[in-house]
Parts: sequence; C-alpha cells; structure tokens
Amino acid sequence: MNLSEKSRQNIDSCRFCWMCRHICPIGNATGQERNTARARAMILSMVNRGSVELTPDIMDNIYECACCSACTCDCVAGRDPVEFVREVRRQAAFDQKTPAYIMRLINNCMESGNMYGASELDIQLKAAISAHEARTSLLLYLGSDARYQASEDAVNAIHLLEKAGISFTVLLREPDSGAAMEYLAGGVEETSRMMKEAVAAMNNFDTVIIYEPFDAKVICREYREWNLGLTARTQTFPAFINTLLKDGKLAVTRGKEKVTYQDPYILARELNETENAREVIAACGILCETMNNRKNTVLAGHLIMAQYRPDIIRLATERRLVENRASGASVVVVSSVAEKIAMSQEGKEFRVITLEELVLMHLKEG
Ligand code: SF4
Ligand code: SF4
Repeated sequence: MNLSEKSRQNIDSCRFCWMCRHICPIGNATGQERNTARARAMILSMVNRGSVELTPDIMDNIYECACCSACTCDCVAGRDPVEFVREVRRQAAFDQKTPAYIMRLINNCMESGNMYGASELDIQLKAAISAHEARTSLLLYLGSDARYQASEDAVNAIHLLEKAGISFTVLLREPDSGAAMEYLAGGVEETSRMMKEAVAAMNNFDTVIIYEPFDAKVICREYREWNLGLTARTQTFPAFINTLLKDGKLAVTRGKEKVTYQDPYILARELNETENAREVIAACGILCETMNNRKNTVLAGHLIMAQYRPDIIRLATERRLVENRASGASVVVVSSVAEKIAMSQEGKEFRVITLEELVLMHLKEG
C-alpha cells in the first residue's frame, strides 16, 4: 500500500500502550479490541510492512472508525490515528479496494451531489429557502445533512434568523461541502472537485454561516489547508446565534429548565468551539454539564456510519445517553444533525432539541 511518509510515521509511532483503549466510542460500543486505534495501528503496520494483505475485513475495520478524534486528543505519543485512517481510505479508492457499501455512498455523492442520492427538498423547506433566494452579503449554508435528513430543523434555523430581522440568503441549489466524500474516500479528485464547487458558491458572499459542524470542519479547515481559495468569512451557526444574542438582535427569557449540551465532537475537538452554545443555553435555562464535556465529549450519532453500521451507532448513542442522564437535565441540546436524529431515537426520556429550537422557545416577542 502506497502510504505517505507522514502516515507511515503515524502508524509506526504507536507504542501499543493501550492508553487510548477506553476512549473510543466505537470500541466501547462493540467491546471489540479491533475497534481501537491501537489495534488498527497494529494491523496497518503489518500491512505497511507487507506481512499482511489489505483484506476486505481490514477495510471494514477502517470504516468502523468514526474519525471522531477522541484518540488523537488523548494519544500519549502524539499520534494522529485519524490521519492514517483517512489516507488508507484514499489509497483504497485508488486501488479499488473500497467496500461495496461505501462505493454506493460515493456513487451517490458523484451522481446526486450528496451521499443520500437525494434531489428533492421537503416542500416546507423549499418554501422557506425560496423566501431568501435574493442575493445578500450573508449566506446561511445548510448543508446536505440538514437539507435531506432534518428539513424541520433547517426550517427552524431559517425562521430564527428571520426573527433576528437580518438579511440573509439561502441557496435553493446549494452545492455539497464535500465533507461526506472526504470521510468516505479522503482527498481524492472528486472530493476536491466538490469542494471547489462549494467554494465558488460561497465566495459570492462576504460571510458564510455554517449550520452543520460536519460541514464546518471541512469549510473552516480543509478548504484553507488545501488552498481552495475560500475568501468568504466563515462562522458556525452556534457562534452566530450567540453573536445575535449579544448584539441584541435576539432577546430571550431565561427559564428554569435544566439543560445539558451535547458538544459535537467536531466543534469541540477540531474547531475548538465549546462556549458559544453554552452561553446561548445559559441565557435560556440552567446549564448542567454532562461528565465528559467539551474536548472530552463522546460521539452520539454519525450519519455516514449509520448508513452502513447503524447497530454500532445505536450502541454508541445509548452509552452516551447514560452520561447525559446523569447530568440531571431534562433537555439535551444538540447542534449536529447526526446527534439530533440518533439521540431523539434512543433518548425517549429526554427532550432532544436543537440550539435554535431552544432559542425559539425562549424568544421575547416584539
Ligand atoms: S477516531 Fe474515534 S472512532 Fe476512530 S479510533 Fe479514534 S476514538 Fe475510535
Ligand atoms: S495512546 Fe497512542 S500510542 Fe498508545 S496505543 Fe493509543 S494510539 Fe498507540
């Protein structure tokens, strides 16, 4: 397998110390050693040395990593297990070793522009977007997950910005960010093509507000690292809501409900953003922390993995809900589509709501 020097070093520098063993939400959900960063490094180091073939079973294991970066943050040797997982996925795409269930999603991305293979928007979302088609300096970028999997939440996001009385645009034909493609096949040509299309659309605006953390990571990080020429200023949706509250464009009444926040791992670990949502929650209710919070957050939903390993994602979400329950909160606020969907399905005893739903519930009218 033709891996980069950086990936080889990442694989070979694993001390197999097991200090990351308790961290992996997937390994904890399955109880299987193969799902830890350590086991993956061990098997890939054997592939790297040519003593083991890259078999379909190893490829399955490569796609059993949710790329949540928990192990990267905690690795005692400063390794980045996510980096080599991504590179193996990219290399497998070149070598035609990508599993068929992943190829199906990749083909959807290439044919429909999103991994769901969707083309039709929900009628209400279409109407909400149509009211904001006119060009302004501010783009609300919803992303494919919200557009095709959580249209009600996307409508709420638009509705909240309307309440703030600001001018903004939403694109009826919004290009996919390339985030799913990057997860599925790494930095292949098709990923880059999708990202460039999104950059071209975003550069028509001064500022882009990114609704979904999964998109925010590639837009705020990969677009810049890969020199894709993004000139628009970017801000995450929780950060923007917080700004609207601070600027007095939105005003809320504080309630007495206990609310905990499910930090999306991407915002917390990849973009270092943990406080905006907390400030918004504290303005609306009583913030209670879940034990593993901020950078130590634990994944509770994953839309891509849920397409091919829903069993694992269900188990991982159930485990996280045990921690949420111990916080004493009756409401869990989320700011990722994946976690909204997974936690709503599993956490029946909680109200699982988005940050914008919380603000809309506490909005001072007039
Ligand atoms: S990135 Fe997350 S899912 Fe993958 S091995 Fe590390 S902790 Fe586990
Ligand atoms: S903590 Fe780092 S060095 Fe230790 S087993 Fe995990 S990935 Fe390897």
